[in-house]
Amino acid sequence: MKSVSGIFYKRILGLGGIGFLMFSCLAAGCGGQASVYRSADIAMGTVVNQTVYTTGEDETGHILTLIKDLEKEELSWREADSEVGMINGIQWEDDGVLESGAPRSVEISRELYEELERLWRISEDSGGAFDFTLGRLTRLWNIDAQASGEAPVRIPDEEEIAEALEKCGFEKVSLEEGRLVLEEEVLLDLGAAGKGIACDRIGAYLRGTEVSGAVVSVGGSVVTYGKKPDGSPWQIGITDPRTGEDLLGTLSLTGEWYISTSGGYERCVESEGIWYHHILDPENGYPARSGLTSVTVVCGSGLVSDALSTACFVLGREEGEKLAARYGAETVFVDDEGNLYLSHGLKDIFTPAAK
Ligand code: FAD
Ligand code: MG
Repeated sequence: MKSVSGIFYKRILGLGGIGFLMFSCLAAGCGGQASVYRSADIAMGTVVNQTVYTTGEDETGHILTLIKDLEKEELSWREADSEVGMINGIQWEDDGVLESGAPRSVEISRELYEELERLWRISEDSGGAFDFTLGRLTRLWNIDAQASGEAPVRIPDEEEIAEALEKCGFEKVSLEEGRLVLEEEVLLDLGAAGKGIACDRIGAYLRGTEVSGAVVSVGGSVVTYGKKPDGSPWQIGITDPRTGEDLLGTLSLTGEWYISTSGGYERCVESEGIWYHHILDPENGYPARSGLTSVTVVCGSGLVSDALSTACFVLGREEGEKLAARYGAETVFVDDEGNLYLSHGLKDIFTPAAK
């Protein structure tokens, strides 16, 4: 058994998922108006890359704080004091974390309430392929920690998986008048939507600033905003899942778009010749095997693009395309053989990488 932490670290270095290509000229040299600010930091367990053009102050610090606050105060399932931490009922013991998971009804913020409503609907529309209540299952697999080398590789047995699955299921939670009501033992895991939610918050923040153009990636989720000073589109790279490094091609986008990629090549471990990745099929509790190696979703919402990329990865191409179409989202599917499938709206803005 071995842990393939290299893949995790490549991701931390910003090579995994999708990335934007920074070959724009310095704004100050293109009209003398906006200045460009760039930064690379860590938040939400991944790399945050920013390129921001503005005539006002440097906004990169504010944007990073916004992401970190969202993680710490609302979304993190690792922080006892975050809303999700409190919903999960995290209690700290001397020897680590204990999650109580008793039946509960928790008053939550308006923002989280609205986000969970939307996630509930995507869970339902995807037939449960996306499910934000997989906390018991994701903790059992613990793939993130195994892939980074923090925990030894251990593949759970069928009994453990069945037991964890009994404590998962979006239909076991409901939203009622500002409160989230959870059945016993259910734990939230917003790992499949949190970075997209962060991108939504960034988009909303940018609209109130003097920023004329920005592209920010939070791991596999990206927001593009406005335009570059020379008017040329943002170039968003789609990573080749076979290497996790090279690009299959780029999407040219102008204005506000949200792009998320889910890949089976991210955060994975090998045991006895079998690879296990972090996107789980709630139907059987095992890493999803739908014939795909990556799915990219482009639409007008970060939450939707992130949740749909996970859902589509689990569902496979045919069902995934139908689901994305319901949400008016565009997609790039890459299958096990390396074939690339673009939805209609992306065909004219995709440029394949030179071979
Ligand atoms: P996605 O496909 O978008 O999401 C996959 C993740 O969602 C899985 O890792 C699992 O957590 C969950 N999931 C698996 N299957 C499903 C499914 N069918 N439906 C719904 N959800 C599913 N990583 C660290 O290493 N350390 C950290 O401290 C850390 N903190 C984080 C804090 C926040 C607020 C967020 C949003 C992420 C954090 N992460 C951290 C990363 C996180 O653990 C996931 O690995 C990451 O969000 C996966 O994103 P993705 O885009 O690669 O895959
Ligand atoms: Mg996702």
